[in-house]
Amino acid sequence: MPVTLPEELLPGQVIARLHGVTLADGTSAGIRVIDGRIADPGGTLTVVPGIGTEPEIDVDATGWMLLPPAADLHAHIDKAYTWSMFGEPEGSLEDAVACWQQHGASLREEQIAANARRQLGAALRAGVTAMRTHVNYHEGADPLRGIRAVLEARDDYRGLVDVQVVAMHGQLIDDALIRDAIGLGVDLIGAAPHLSETPRAEIHRAAAFAESAGIGIDLHTDENLDPDSLDLIDLAHRTADWPAHMTRSAGHCVSLAVQPPARLAAALDAAAEAGVSIITNPLTNLYLQGWQHPVAMPRAIPPLNAILDAGVVLAAGGDNVQDPFNPLGNGDMVDVAAALVLAGHLSPRRAWQVVAAGRGLLGLPPATGAVGDVADGILVRATSVAEALAERAPDRIVVRDGRVVATRSFHSVSVPLQERSEMRV
Ligand SMILES: [Zn+2]
Repeated sequence: MPVTLPEELLPGQVIARLHGVTLADGTSAGIRVIDGRIADPGGTLTVVPGIGTEPEIDVDATGWMLLPPAADLHAHIDKAYTWSMFGEPEGSLEDAVACWQQHGASLREEQIAANARRQLGAALRAGVTAMRTHVNYHEGADPLRGIRAVLEARDDYRGLVDVQVVAMHGQLIDDALIRDAIGLGVDLIGAAPHLSETPRAEIHRAAAFAESAGIGIDLHTDENLDPDSLDLIDLAHRTADWPAHMTRSAGHCVSLAVQPPARLAAALDAAAEAGVSIITNPLTNLYLQGWQHPVAMPRAIPPLNAILDAGVVLAAGGDNVQDPFNPLGNGDMVDVAAALVLAGHLSPRRAWQVVAAGRGLLGLPPATGAVGDVADGILVRATSVAEALAERAPDRIVVRDGRVVATRSFHSVSVPLQERSEMRV
């Protein structure tokens, strides 16, 4: 069988073997793919059934890594690409919420669906094959149009990006609308208790709806720098007796960044004991928090190593994409992982583990490159996770079930060897 270079791969092609690829743990491996799964390299090669009619490809992946695929566990694809449309606003979380309330009614269902599809496409090309997105009850008439639009966009990306939808209510949304959203088929109940006048009541309302529908919750939690904001503990107590399969996630948890050590430890113990996972969203939090601190601005990122050391499952999200909450968001989890290192002080390898961990929270099977795992991942031209994150992995090949589903690469005019060495001097 002729050998192909990774940069020659095209979407739709099925990979049979990866020679000389480096895994995230730094080991080098020859990988064989059978029936969409990583197989024993010594086994007999069989035809991949049901995946496509394209010929299988043998790839020389020397100098490339296979990273576990990224999971974006906190997105808002119903808000994406609205920043310039809404007047290029700047400011804090409260300013962004006010901007959304002022302009949100102007968004039509088709526009929301188009923006959501655009973000899903960008996510796939970046290597995101699993996503959990929050969706608002939209301003103006027909508040459920955002949820319908996102469910429609999700259908278009079925088999490419696995999407969970969280219907996120505010204090003023009435119970009947929440029941209607559940009827549309949302996966989880969401809310933002810290923005309400009665946070504890909001946690209990969200939990009660989840229980009646037999689904879970993912709440925006303590998204502020107030040490007295510890909704995480109330969330943990309220859901501690839920069965393991019922999701309870806390997004943001910014106020953990300003807790005294003993209070931090108590909050993390409660979360670990109750099985509450934490989703950190460093880019949006760096942007939205700290506007009231002209000097000594806090980083607004919860203590990530302490969360992991406490045994709490930690995942990460890209959060906002070019909307009033983050004008520069792009949903690329490589950028998010870099922020987890630079601002959150995780090691590069641990940062990518956090970015990949969201798969498990969506109930998806492991994809680590080990024998028996699904053959999903991102091929990047790098020799270590640190190098991939430092250079933001410009060349990427996204693989699902052994099949190439997206590629991107950078090209330039070739520079003669002699000139190259002079340029280095
Ligand atoms: Zn959010």
